[in-house]
Amino acid sequence: MNSQGRHKCAYSACECAVAAPESYCSDYCSDADGVRETEIQCDCKHTPCALD
Ligand SMILES: [Zn+2]
Ligand SMILES: [Zn+2]
Repeated sequence: MNSQGRHKCAYSACECAVAAPESYCSDYCSDADGVRETEIQCDCKHTPCALD
């Protein structure tokens, strides 16, 4: 495994994989984590988080 590879998005409600050195998969996650709102479901629109 490569430590410079992909890791989970830093937003706790998000399930996306992110390529280093990014911490978040999207601006949505960066903003959502920054405001510390309690989110049950990520809404970044990426496939791992998509709502039916
Ligand atoms: Zn997400
Ligand atoms: Zn994310």
